[in-house]
Amino acid sequence: MIRIFSHDNIFIVHNIKNILNAAGIITELRNDLINSAAGELPPTEVWPEIWIMPEQQQKAEALIKLAMQGDPSRTSWFCEDCNESNEPAFELCWHCGAEGPY
Ligand SMILES: [Zn+2]
Repeated sequence: MIRIFSHDNIFIVHNIKNILNAAGIITELRNDLINSAAGELPPTEVWPEIWIMPEQQQKAEALIKLAMQGDPSRTSWFCEDCNESNEPAFELCWHCGAEGPY
């Protein structure tokens, strides 16, 4: 497998993972549960990572690019169900999974 995405915000990583999964891409999450070790390693070493099969790299990269760019007309939004703040690129609330305005 290859590493396709890494970010220090676990919610963004999970959102990307959901987008890839929804597109039929098999993902594996690594470094998800080792925050307690963060003090001993360089920060980028402990960012959560998404790994995928190499043959799905192109499709995954296109989806990630789209997700991270977002739509310029979008702004951050607040979930109607739990009032959590969400990034513009998120289509579902990262906190409760409710649908956003997009
Ligand atoms: Zn919510």
